[in-house]
Amino acid sequence: MGTIDRRTLLAGTAALALTACGGGKGGSPEATATKGPNIVKPEAGNVVTPADTAALRKKLNAAFKTRDVEQLVGVIDAEDYSLDDVRKRWTRRYENFDRMGVVDGEWYVGVPSGRTRNGAGGKVEYSGNLVFSHRIKDCDGQDVVESYRADFRKKTEDAPLELLRIGDADSYFDPSFWDVADVDVIEGKHSIVGFRLQDAAKAKRYAATIDAGAKRAFDTMPDPGGVTKVFYALTWKAVDGKLWGGVGTSEADAHAYRHPFLDPQELAAGQKKPSTAKGVPLGTGRVGLHEGSFTRSDFPRVTTHEAVHVLADQWGDGSPPIWVIEGLATWGEYGKDALLAEHGGLIRSGWSRFEKVAPKEYEAFHDPSVETIAYKSGGAVFAYLEDTGGRDAVYEVASTFYGNQSRQEAARKLGRSEKDLLAATKKWLRA
Ligand SMILES: [Zn+2]
Repeated sequence: MGTIDRRTLLAGTAALALTACGGGKGGSPEATATKGPNIVKPEAGNVVTPADTAALRKKLNAAFKTRDVEQLVGVIDAEDYSLDDVRKRWTRRYENFDRMGVVDGEWYVGVPSGRTRNGAGGKVEYSGNLVFSHRIKDCDGQDVVESYRADFRKKTEDAPLELLRIGDADSYFDPSFWDVADVDVIEGKHSIVGFRLQDAAKAKRYAATIDAGAKRAFDTMPDPGGVTKVFYALTWKAVDGKLWGGVGTSEADAHAYRHPFLDPQELAAGQKKPSTAKGVPLGTGRVGLHEGSFTRSDFPRVTTHEAVHVLADQWGDGSPPIWVIEGLATWGEYGKDALLAEHGGLIRSGWSRFEKVAPKEYEAFHDPSVETIAYKSGGAVFAYLEDTGGRDAVYEVASTFYGNQSRQEAARKLGRSEKDLLAATKKWLRA
């Protein structure tokens, strides 16, 4: 039940995507216009303006509102491209969104820098990001984004901006649960449980247990401003660990997928920048419950554990050590007293092994020979913090690690090294 450190695992993907954003088609009209000695007024020629992008965006959003795939397809001047993939993807999405009734969304069109002007007045043609952002009702404090590679054209100064192609979604965000099957949801008080239609009976059977698990997480963690539910998807072999841009690197029985809130308008212009909205939440997450999790005797705790991961994502997209991520979720899963009552012996006897793996990364931490000790001992650090400083001390340490780009920076801001934290916990445990 690991959470994937997506920043580490997908750094390559993200870097590629960003690099791709910078490259237009060879010999773009803009490049011709800016070369040479002539000083061209910035406004001169054929320029893609905010009014152009707003008009295209309006058409796309109108097509989303009507849930008419042909209206969406009608916005695209595809010429040689087949629209079969777009039709297929959005037909399924529209059906799923209608059935689920909890997802709303909208399109964003941006102006990527440097490629959207032809000073001589001729045709402007470029590739860029087309962004679709969505929210799951009560689960997402801000929009969750996804971007598609798209081609745009403005024939003349007076012509509208045209969309020529919607390509593949950036694998950093894709696929979503509603792209891989015909799905529906059960809404609880603290959870929304998504399932394939053929898993409806199973979802119904487990919905109350999952909802109770989510409630325990909300009772334990701070409220991410306006968020009252956690989204769980019942997954299956083919998609276990692979949704929402995740990658299946482990045999975990469940995954929490992290979504930092990126600014959709900035992403449409080619930049992955955090949302500028102030305060929390800075991110959200979704849970994938694999088939294997349902046969575990501790299934109710798994649902709480994963929800704690999701609620911790409100603190941002930093780089917490893996022991902080899993320790916090294990603390939330058991609660301070039960963790020590049930696993105090293991934690004390395995402490020195935990100290060896705590400074390390994902792979070492999840080594089967030490994984159980590492999870429970990480949990003990937060039990120590709660016992000596209350839950506020837990949140302060966890949120600082989640909110900073390096563990060293976080420790500096806390005024306390990881080594000190572990030493103090060891003393408290009498290990
Ligand atoms: Zn976990």
